[in-house]
Amino acid sequence: MLSCVIDLYQCISKRINDMMLRIDSMPNEREMSKDNIQVDNLYTEGEQWVQNLGEKTVHAKRMGGKFRLLKWLGTLVWLPFFITPYITWNGQQAILFDIEKRQYHLFDVTIFPQDLWMLTMVLLFLAILLAAMTTVLGRVFCGYFCFQTVWTDMFTKVEDFFEGAPIKRRKLEVAPWDLTKIRIKISKHVVWLAIAFLSGVTWMLYFGVSWSDYFDGSASSTTLSITAAISLGAYTFAGHMREQTCLWICPYARIQGAMVDKQTIMPTYDHYRGEQRGKLSKGQYTKGQGDCIDCHQCVAVCPTGVDIRKGQEYGCITCGLCIDACDSVMTKVGKATGLIRYTSLDEMKFNKPSVALYKRPRVIVYSTILVLALSVLGAGLFSLAPMDLKVLHDRQPLFVQLSDGSIRNKYELKIMNKTHQSMLVDVDFESEIAHLTSQRRHRNITIPSGNVKSVYVYLKAFEKDVGDNNSVIFSVTSGEADLEYKSSFFTPKSMN
Ligand code: SF4
Ligand code: SF4
Repeated sequence: MLSCVIDLYQCISKRINDMMLRIDSMPNEREMSKDNIQVDNLYTEGEQWVQNLGEKTVHAKRMGGKFRLLKWLGTLVWLPFFITPYITWNGQQAILFDIEKRQYHLFDVTIFPQDLWMLTMVLLFLAILLAAMTTVLGRVFCGYFCFQTVWTDMFTKVEDFFEGAPIKRRKLEVAPWDLTKIRIKISKHVVWLAIAFLSGVTWMLYFGVSWSDYFDGSASSTTLSITAAISLGAYTFAGHMREQTCLWICPYARIQGAMVDKQTIMPTYDHYRGEQRGKLSKGQYTKGQGDCIDCHQCVAVCPTGVDIRKGQEYGCITCGLCIDACDSVMTKVGKATGLIRYTSLDEMKFNKPSVALYKRPRVIVYSTILVLALSVLGAGLFSLAPMDLKVLHDRQPLFVQLSDGSIRNKYELKIMNKTHQSMLVDVDFESEIAHLTSQRRHRNITIPSGNVKSVYVYLKAFEKDVGDNNSVIFSVTSGEADLEYKSSFFTPKSMN
């Protein structure tokens, strides 16, 4: 165990030293001037990059740039996922899905199964938001926010740390197994498994499980199974199947083509400007050659191994990393940046200006649905009552005739207390039926917090007193709220 820790420490120290050496040996701006173009190195390296056809693991090169930075910012969207379970609010976990008590706490709001219709609105909102984003910016969700992409980015960062740059990784892959390779691989997989386990446990924290449950043996088999499934899923999909998940498994990759149109902005290779592509000869362009110097850097950085120069592919997750790579190459060869850029088909092919978002029919339709879903959701959240009332009229039988000739109806009032304290309620009724009486008064009925209580009410009246309007309005009153529910009083006459 101790030797493993020492090995891990040595490996980390070596990687930090390597990293410092690389930083020291990085060319400064003056060295990168046009006079010192070292494109031959790009060509030597470029031969290493092949388009992903699914047979090999893609080891994408990491390069700086504005879209790389944007990708890191997108990753931060997931930070609250790891932090929120530790936030307490009014003495309890701020976001808690309490399956056992069937209560879902979101800070001050407690949602009961009766209010779960709001979840439909949330799902509708998210689905339409995804469609709207795709229409405007292609698979921008995949490129910057999707958990698969973000976790894969974290896992490849770890791989980069232990195994080195992509070329080294490929060499290591085919190298014979020796102690060094075993040590590096074990270190990498231990960190991968740790991230995967952290993800699985964090997910379960939202359901009331605590870290100690895993270590004192009190975690249930369901908890352990779900944690294992999520951890294994993260380890497999982000560590071993990364781009294959985006290319071959994710259904969204297959349907997104139907959501884009000619105005959708996506990373696009400007083939009018880039072709005829060709390698520089002695650092110089030859006559008639396009701007693309065929250095393969755009393929090298692509996390899904796409060659953007072949046109739009469903494998492209719209991350923009090829733009960063190509811009840096164009700067080196003294050409304008933007050979690969975010643009639409209309703009690239037909030189048409982009249409304002509010004039695009798809955007209008999606926005309308988004606003509707959000309004209904907002109205639902603001009208969450502290009580819920349902009245069920007994159907078997609908009424009974008593020995004095009067008719009696039975009702079950289901009263739910949605507050965090016990509640005292009074039940009343009103009706146009003359002399309608209740068998007993229902006063100061205690309903514990989060519970539903059934109150049975027996009403009786003589049939001659029941006119055309046989409705009965029940009311439940507490210090928190008043609720009403309309029902009916049935007699033999009602059956005709
Ligand atoms: S598009 Fe840019 S990065 Fe890609 S091969 Fe051409 S010059 Fe190199
Ligand atoms: S082609 Fe460019 S934008 Fe598309 S996935 Fe590859 S690097 Fe990202």
